[in-house]
Amino acid sequence: MDSKEKVKSRAENILTLLQKEYPDAKCSLHYQSHHELLIATILSAQCTDHRVNQVTPNLFKKYPTVQSFAHSNLSELSKDIHSCGYHNQKAKSIQGASLTILNEYNGEVPNTMDALIRLPGVGRKTANCVLGQCFNVPSMVIDTHMVRIMNLLGFVETKDPQKIELVAMDLFPEEKWVKLTHMVIDHGRAICIARRPQCSDCILAPLCPSNHS
Ligand code: SF4
Repeated sequence: MDSKEKVKSRAENILTLLQKEYPDAKCSLHYQSHHELLIATILSAQCTDHRVNQVTPNLFKKYPTVQSFAHSNLSELSKDIHSCGYHNQKAKSIQGASLTILNEYNGEVPNTMDALIRLPGVGRKTANCVLGQCFNVPSMVIDTHMVRIMNLLGFVETKDPQKIELVAMDLFPEEKWVKLTHMVIDHGRAICIARRPQCSDCILAPLCPSNHS
C-alpha cells in the first residue's frame, strides 16, 4: 500500500468509527426554512450554535419573512441579534442578503455556490452549510472543529479552510461529506475539545497521530 492509499484507508476507518459513535449527528442550528438556516448560519460566525438557537425563536417571530428582514430597521435588527456578537456587521449581512434574495431570486435562497457567495456576508462556510442542509448538495463546512481535528488527525497541516476542504473532499466519499462535518463537530464538542482533548476516552485514539493517552 503506498502512502496515499494508507492515508485513505485510515480516513475510511476513522469515518467508520465516527459513524458508530455519532449515528445521529446533524446540524444543531434550529430552522424551518432555507432562509432561516441562512440567517442562523450568518449569526453563528464567532458564536455558539446554542446561543444562536436562543436568539432565533424570537427573531423569526418578529421577522417571519424574507421581506421583513430585507426591509428591517438596521439598528433595531442589530439590537435584536446583539447577544450573538459582531451584531452590526451581522445585521448588515442579514439585511443585505435578504434584500438580494428578494430582488434577484424572487425571495428564494439560491442553490449554487456561486450565487450564495455573492450574497452580502456569505462565505464558503455559510454557503456549504446551506447547500448541504437545504439542497442535499455534497459539501463540507470547515468550521473551527474541522480545522482543529483535521490537523490533529494528521490529514492537513494548515488552518486554511479552503485547503482543508479540498483535502477532505479527496479523502472521504462525497455522500458522507455533510454527515462527516456534523460528526466531527460532535466529536470536537464532546471529546477532542480545543486545548484539552480527552485522548484517553477517544475512539479515534489508535488512528490519531496526536493521541497523547
Ligand atoms: S486522540 Fe486526542 S487528539 Fe486525536 S482525535 Fe482523539 S481526542 Fe483528538
